[in-house]
Parts: sequence; structure tokens; C-alpha cells
Amino acid sequence: MIVSPGVSIHDSSILEAQKIGIPILGDIELFAHYAKAPIIAITGSNGKSTVTLLVDAMVRNANKQVLTGGNLGVPALTLLEGSTPDFYVLELSSFQLETTHTLKPESSCILNISPDHMDRYSNIESYIEAKLRIYQNAKTIVVNKDDPYLSSFSYSHSHCIQFTLNHPRFSEYGIQEQNNQIWFAKGNKLILPVEQLSIKGRHNWANALAALALGESVGLPQSAMITALQEFQGLSHRCQKVACINRVDWFNDSKGTNVGATLAALEGLPCHGKIILIAGGIGKGADFRPLYKPLAARAKALILMGRDAYQLATDLTDSTPIYQVSNMTEAVNTAYDLASSEDCVLLSPACASFDMFSGFEARGEAFIQAIQAIQP
Ligand code: ADP
Repeated sequence: MIVSPGVSIHDSSILEAQKIGIPILGDIELFAHYAKAPIIAITGSNGKSTVTLLVDAMVRNANKQVLTGGNLGVPALTLLEGSTPDFYVLELSSFQLETTHTLKPESSCILNISPDHMDRYSNIESYIEAKLRIYQNAKTIVVNKDDPYLSSFSYSHSHCIQFTLNHPRFSEYGIQEQNNQIWFAKGNKLILPVEQLSIKGRHNWANALAALALGESVGLPQSAMITALQEFQGLSHRCQKVACINRVDWFNDSKGTNVGATLAALEGLPCHGKIILIAGGIGKGADFRPLYKPLAARAKALILMGRDAYQLATDLTDSTPIYQVSNMTEAVNTAYDLASSEDCVLLSPACASFDMFSGFEARGEAFIQAIQAIQP
């Protein structure tokens, strides 16, 4: 039985099938069976698409053939229609990993863990267990040393590269400060000043380090990787600056569909004033309380809409003034009225969009259109 990642493997019909010995597999398992080139595999709660495309750019810069897809862009099985490349780069979701058994990545990475899809998992442990499947049978694993969940495990792999946003130990990737400049580094060796990374925010430093480690593990030259870091412009709807009106910056982070992503935006966004956060939608069973502290520290207001606005308001009472609105235009107009010079308006909903929009892209477009409507 080949199961779509959209269907839970805990569905009673699938459990019944399993009971009578029918193998349950997914598209990535089939892909693993037929793929003839080394696979670089990437998962995590946040940053998968960004790192997948960064690694894709690094491989291209190294003048190697690459086919990239999976949970983003081209479905993995469609990649097999092309001629065999030098590398496949795959973004994988936890749902895809649940039905994958024999994938043997050349190199794989779990970028980070923060609770997501808690409507599909009974607890965080089973979500992590699904993610960890990407490390099974991998030749090299890339591990986020700063992640409290991922750094708590001991890994038996002979090739393991760690990355950290702190000072790296020998052979780790990390961040170093020298002569008032902050650098990406491997051990004591400086690689690139972080200001030369095109995509902004501290969470993207972690993404860059993960991509460097993955690239190294498959033998890419550092110069090719550096050029990719300098040139990669990032994806739309991820902490993307979309307007500046009266010295107020407006950021579209519509892809911030869980608490971890919104936390990264709230903590990492360059903003000299206060942040006005627009959030809400389908909460997927999340606990929003981790947003309380950064809201109290950095926000001027929280504007809420969508199905689970009430739960957000309950979890975040008193963190900052809260405004309830019924659509994006109202949210943008309210933010416009509240913002003053140097403030930032951030759409980072911490929720899925399907209660009000066809997807995160439509939600981001609605945000941009509403901003254009208020342009003085
Ligand atoms: P994914 O494919 O895992 O959803 P994306 O690269 O599309 O990842 O980014 C999704 C959201 O996560 C965006 O809001 C983005 O700003 C945020 N994000 C990206 N990288 C990280 C990271 N390393 N840690 C936390 N949040 C991140």
C-alpha cells in the first residue's frame, strides 16, 4: 500500500492492512529503490526549503548536475524521469519519512525540532522519531548542536558533522567573532563574514552552516559553496521584506506556519523599533506560550485573525496589547494605524492558512495586496 503523506498511517484502514501483512510505503521509499545517484536529504521543523535550495545552488556552482525536489517543488518520483544526475537533493517531511524504510542518503540533516503537526502526532517524541528516520543508513549525518532535542541523542554514525551558532570546536561549523566582524567558520578557520549572506536573520545563519556541512560531506569545493551563500536570494513568504512605508518595514513571513518559525522571526528580525505581529489561522494543536516572552520584549501589538485566534489570545494574554480582526485588510489597516517610524510589521502567523486561504502563498499575497492598498 503506497500512502500519500497527507494520510495518517494511524488511519484505521492502514492499521488493518498492516495487521494482515500488507507493506506500507510512501513515494520516497519507491524513489530510494530506483534512484541511482547519491542523495542529500534534508528535514527539520523549519528551514527545509531554504536549505534544500541553498544546497541545490551549491551543487550547481560546483558544476555538478543536480535534481532537487521531494516535499518542495518537483515530487521525488518525477525526478526519476530525468537522466541520472550527480546528486539528488531531497526535502523530506516527517510524514514522508514515516513510510520510508531503505533510503540510504549520502548525507542527511535534521535542521531543528520544534513542535509542529501536533494534530497528527500523539506527542513530540513520535514526531522526533519520524524525523530521526532520515539518519538511518546515512553515510554522513549533519547535526544541530544547539537543538536541545537533537543534541541529547548519541549517534553511532562514523561520519557526523555538527553545527552551532556558538564558537565551533575543531571540525564543527559555527560562528566566530574576529576584529569586530562575525564570521561563518569551521573550527578556527574563517569562511565568510555573515553580513555577506544574502538571506537575513540568525536562523538563516544556522541554515547556511547546515548547508556548508552538507556540501562538505559530499565533497563540494568551499569556493562554490561560498558563492551560493552570497548569491542565494531566499524564497518568497519567508521573512521577506515587502514594503517600507513612512520608515516602517513590512515583512511577509506567511510560511511561518508553526511556533518555531514565528519565534525565529520575532527574535531574529532586524528591527530598531517595536514589532507589530499579525498571526492566527489553524493552530494544529500547538502551544503558543513560547511566543509570550519575545512578544513582551519586542512587540508593540499582536493582531489576531482566523480559526484559532481565541486560543492564541488566551495563551498570550498580557504579553502585549491584542487586537482581534476578521480579515487581512483589517489586520493590515490596524497595523498601519499602530506603527510609527522604525517599527516593523510582521506577518508570521504561527498557524496554517487553510481556514481563510488556499495556502500560505495566497495568505502572503493577500498581505502584500492589502499593503499596496494603503500606500500613501
Ligand atoms: P520549511 O520548508 O521547513 O517550511 P522554509 O525554509 O520554507 O522551511 O521556512 C519556513 C519558515 O521557517 C519561515 O517562516 C522561515 O522564516 C522559518 N525558518 C527558516 N529557517 C529556520 C530555522 N533554521 N529556524 C527557525 N525558523 C526558520
